[in-house]
Amino acid sequence: MFLVDSHCHLDGLDYEKLHANVDDVLAKAASKDVKFCLAVATTLPGYRNMRELIGERENVAFSCGVHPLNQDEVYDVAQLRRLAAEPGVVAMGETGLDYFYTPQTKARQQESFRHHIRIGRELKKPVIVHTREARDDTLAILREEQVTDCGGVLHCFTEDRETAGKLLDLGFYISFSGIVTFRNADALREAARYVPLDRLLVETDSPYLAPVPYRGKENQPAYVRDVAEYMAVLKGVSVEELAAITTQNFVNLFSVDLSHLCSD
Ligand SMILES: [Zn+2]
Ligand SMILES: [Zn+2]
Repeated sequence: MFLVDSHCHLDGLDYEKLHANVDDVLAKAASKDVKFCLAVATTLPGYRNMRELIGERENVAFSCGVHPLNQDEVYDVAQLRRLAAEPGVVAMGETGLDYFYTPQTKARQQESFRHHIRIGRELKKPVIVHTREARDDTLAILREEQVTDCGGVLHCFTEDRETAGKLLDLGFYISFSGIVTFRNADALREAARYVPLDRLLVETDSPYLAPVPYRGKENQPAYVRDVAEYMAVLKGVSVEELAAITTQNFVNLFSVDLSHLCSD
């Protein structure tokens, strides 16, 4: 079995107490058949530090971008484009809109979101989109900026079934995190049943949002196994099938070559 953690913040894990180093985290993941990770950036200096921390590895790819919650400081769009063009970067983001935590930076978030999509189209790299309390503006900007040219994923999906439908119409993939395992997440499970298997991704968003039975503890890529097992039951397929199709979806969306890792 081959699982991918399609969204994690590998630089945000606890390397003081919980893990010896990045090798340790990736070994724990591999022991659960999680054999590839997409390490997602949230600021430009953070992107640089993350690449330094992780180094060049055959089982980790990177995104480059500025998170909607980090729009209190201005960043250089030309630098975003330059860094995003680096080898090893397979996606733009995470980008998007978060009106829940930082409504005061709405205008800047929208500007930044548009820039990420434009650069994504230019570089042919899909966008990783975060949205919270900003559904209509998120959909409008995706359409206005013609996101279908580069494609993308709505990560850590917590919207309803109708919103999932609109994203699917835009050619988007939809990624589910550990939240789908939470007891009070019935509406989200309904959306998860609705999304077709060939548009589905799984992620941890670690170090945040650990799935049941680790809820409240620090999350890590290994736990995408638990998300996948849960999703498999929801979708009525085996976990092996769910792993195979979500890994293929990941390959299709981000154009990464995993064949050298797929020996078994
Ligand atoms: Zn996010
Ligand atoms: Zn994230």
